[in-house]
Amino acid sequence: MNMMQRLSDVETQYSEEIVAMKKKRGSELVILTHHYQRQEVVSLNDFVGDSLQLAKNARDAEGAKYIVFCGVRFMAEAAEVLRRKNQVVIHPDPMSGCPLADYAPADGAEMAWEEITDVVDKDDVMPLVYMNSSAALKAMVGRNGGSVCTSSNTARAFQWAMKKRRVVFFLPDENLGRNTALSLGISPEQIAVWDPTEDHGGLTRDQISSAKVILWKGYCHVHTHFSTKDIQRAREKFPGCRVVVHPECPPDVVDASDGSGSTAYIVKQAEQAPAGSTLVVGTEVNLVSRLASEYEDKKIVALSRSLCPNMFRISIRKLRDSVASLPNPDKDKVVSLSDEVKGEAVIALDRMLSI
Ligand code: SF4
Repeated sequence: MNMMQRLSDVETQYSEEIVAMKKKRGSELVILTHHYQRQEVVSLNDFVGDSLQLAKNARDAEGAKYIVFCGVRFMAEAAEVLRRKNQVVIHPDPMSGCPLADYAPADGAEMAWEEITDVVDKDDVMPLVYMNSSAALKAMVGRNGGSVCTSSNTARAFQWAMKKRRVVFFLPDENLGRNTALSLGISPEQIAVWDPTEDHGGLTRDQISSAKVILWKGYCHVHTHFSTKDIQRAREKFPGCRVVVHPECPPDVVDASDGSGSTAYIVKQAEQAPAGSTLVVGTEVNLVSRLASEYEDKKIVALSRSLCPNMFRISIRKLRDSVASLPNPDKDKVVSLSDEVKGEAVIALDRMLSI
């Protein structure tokens, strides 16, 4: 494996130790690695995928007792929400957070909810929360009749919400919300942005009451990094290429691309691209590099190099330390949530599955 050859001696040693410990622990140990993890970490996975799929994989894995989640905090929390009673979720670096999720703390969102529903009746506003959010925020949404959605099913979740209530309140990614709303024919004038740093979200009562969609002002810097200039440059450099981007990118970038969709969509685009073609991808660079090495019969290149430093915090050494600590994982690495938060977050997740 190309990337493994670039490991230092000590990293190679850690990798070998992890392989040996995995063998010893058998099915009771499950290592989950998100698509955006470094290749040397991904190479040690039992499952690789997106956050929701990984949480389900771990819950359903026969005999799994210790779940080591190589991803950011909200992902490890999702695994904790969905886990079976006898399972423990371990996060190798508790400081590996997600700035997008951090834009919407549950107490701030609760305050916004109170203010919005002071203007529009509670029964007329549907909260929708993106998977990339804390468990506490998912719980707040579950408590108020709303649902979780992923980047694969945001449009379906919007349609469901609009059938049930007049206004959709979407958190925390403004671009994903805007791209989805526009794709469903909602006009820009019907979309309001709630800026949590401003009094009343920076909106007047009239703006709140006339909006069809209210978007929380949050973004993923890994995806707002891409610009239409990058796309123009790629098209000049690779004539005839296909450009696909993630819907957390700004609307003008999504418009200028040939297609946009979730990580699963991007992986499928790479799989399906004809041999000899060029696919330019606007998402986290570790995924793009992995796809490029998996599909050597086609050219897969990054739209521009954009790395998630929070994902990058999980190193092979931290993974090895977490695995080596079993069966007594460090307390600060064990993910723990109150039963109340877990119960309400599950309601919001279950609603998504029923949509
Ligand atoms: S890529 Fe963006 S959304 Fe994903 S963990 Fe990094 S900052 Fe958060």
